[in-house]
Amino acid sequence: MCSSASEQMLTIATGNAGKAKEFGDMLGHQWVIKTLLDYPEIPDVIEDGDSFEANACKKAVEISRVIAGPVLADDSGLEVDSLNGDPGIFSARYAGEHKDDAANNAKLMREMDAVPEGQRGAQFHCALAIAENGAVLATFDGIIRGQILREPRGSNGFGYDPYFQPDGYPITTAQMEPRDKHVISHRGKAGRDAAAYLKQHFDCL
Ligand code: IMP
Repeated sequence: MCSSASEQMLTIATGNAGKAKEFGDMLGHQWVIKTLLDYPEIPDVIEDGDSFEANACKKAVEISRVIAGPVLADDSGLEVDSLNGDPGIFSARYAGEHKDDAANNAKLMREMDAVPEGQRGAQFHCALAIAENGAVLATFDGIIRGQILREPRGSNGFGYDPYFQPDGYPITTAQMEPRDKHVISHRGKAGRDAAAYLKQHFDCL
């Protein structure tokens, strides 16, 4: 598994350059990071698993069959207590296949209209999987708990951030600087654990 320093290539199974940079920063500079943008010929993996972990594993495994070296894949979303964990794995397309953040948030507000304060708990959840040669090597999980507000606040971040206030903080994740959000976020936690794993298992320096 351990290759020479000059060959330490890691593929992040996303076509989202911002997300890849975020993970790349967490992983450290010994990695030559590739993303799916470098492999336009690879077809999209259908995310039809029944959990974040199943989707992350499916993506990592399928991509690692056609690309050499370790592949890191993620899946994430919002789980709302009073909605029995919805929108969950459907977070990106909660209001439809067009993946519209504003429409998703509008639907979330409608669904939670009757949910009183004190019962508006929710969590962002991120699952990461690392695979190589078509087999899962490891999976990681990160969760951040918070409350769903009734009005949006802040313009950083994406998705449900303007409505999500992490427990113990007076501001939403959309009001946080990205680097402050990553210190406490679901993706930050899972990403740091994945980075530690990669360092231990692949770092030959
Ligand atoms: P994906 O893992 O990039 O497919 O993200 C799934 C969806 O979950 C996103 O489109 C957002 O709606 C939601 N989501 C995941 N992580 C976050 C976050 O950190 N902030 C806000 N929304 C998020």
